[in-house]
Amino acid sequence: MKIFEYQGKELFKKCGIPVPEGLIIEEKRDIRNIVSRADKGNGVVLKAQVLTGGRGKARGVRFAGSVAECESQYDELINMSISGHPVRKILLEERLNIQQEFYLGVIVDTETGQPVVIVCSQGGMDVEELSKTHPERMEKIVADVAYGLLDYQVRAALIRLGARKELLAPFIDIAKKLYKFFMEYDALFAEINPLALNAGGSLIAADARIDIDGAALYRHPDIQEMKSSYEATIEESLRDDYQLEYVELDGNIGLISGGAGLTMTAMDCITLAGGRPACFMDCSANVSPTGYEMALRTLNSRKDVDCILMNIFGGITRMDRVGGYILEALKKIGGVDKPLVIRLEGTDAEKGREVMRKAGFSLCETFEEAVQKAVALGGSNEHTDQSIDQGRCAGHYRQSGHVLHQGHDPVRHEDRGGRHPR
Ligand code: GDP
Ligand code: MN
Repeated sequence: MKIFEYQGKELFKKCGIPVPEGLIIEEKRDIRNIVSRADKGNGVVLKAQVLTGGRGKARGVRFAGSVAECESQYDELINMSISGHPVRKILLEERLNIQQEFYLGVIVDTETGQPVVIVCSQGGMDVEELSKTHPERMEKIVADVAYGLLDYQVRAALIRLGARKELLAPFIDIAKKLYKFFMEYDALFAEINPLALNAGGSLIAADARIDIDGAALYRHPDIQEMKSSYEATIEESLRDDYQLEYVELDGNIGLISGGAGLTMTAMDCITLAGGRPACFMDCSANVSPTGYEMALRTLNSRKDVDCILMNIFGGITRMDRVGGYILEALKKIGGVDKPLVIRLEGTDAEKGREVMRKAGFSLCETFEEAVQKAVALGGSNEHTDQSIDQGRCAGHYRQSGHVLHQGHDPVRHEDRGGRHPR
């Protein structure tokens, strides 16, 4: 999970890595206040907060010498989009008087599985090119996870890069702190570019790019809180908050299924029967009313979906419960307005089907029957508009458009025989 520069700098500050004085501009009218706090006599810098690189080149970093200048730069930045990422937040900081730009980063070498610290004597915006044009200005230090990053490793690298003597101690200190941060936060990537040599002779992190291993987020509640709500796509939102594996496709049969294998098979069968799946939607990691609710909501609000096919097979999952979950989900939504074809099979499926029949649903007996029925209901599939009806659905995703779905905790529970969901 990538985090924003301002969030990365907050973490750096906690770790003792020096960062410029700055604040997020929440509202334009706050600018005057923030400028007076941040400006140390050198003006200020406004930085668009986006989770992508190349911001400087895209003019996402601006300087200002006065409040008025700052306000006009703010207006320009807030209406910008950088590589498809709309700017929603702007960080205002003291402007540094940069004498030299270094690069300092930690990554994992995926071949050896070891953390690698990269130091360059020429940081800034063109560092990607540096490895080709000036390999002698770049040093790679392989850290041994048992010993951590050692002083002499950084010192030797800096000496090879021709760094001035007085920089060695503070540079080593920052490198070790960044390495420690990288390890403790289960980062995949942590980069300071530029690590700026300020006019006063001190080193300071002018930027922060950080990617934390999503699989380790449970160990870092402070990072989880940073989840960049508005940047999540519907796919990410469904996966991160509801454990639903959803991939949008261009057909018109909204498939809801359980298990990757069965979902793939169902997609194949739909295609063989002459239809086209609108998605891959695997609910097996969230067998709960909430899981089915979100799956149904998503497909019901897709304008290009003509029919929803639910094909659930319970091996360990008990289908008597699944029947109840689906009913509960449908009740919550207030029913779907697309034809719904349901096939339930597996452990205790007869009971599950009974529950649903009692509620007035007619169910298919076989997989083939369900697929054929769905394809027939799907019809010609001539859609031009494949968008999600945002007004109807977006509010239900926990992350989309700042609107939190009230009262629905994601159920991180897998209904594996015996254990009952909360
Ligand atoms: P990026 O392009 O997204 O990596 O954005 P950065 O935050 O790294 O900024 C890009 C460039 O802007 C840096 O390499 C610096 O040259 C310059 N820059 C950023 N902050 C400051 C600052 O406070 N003072 C000065 N003089 N230059 C800055
Ligand atoms: Mn940068």
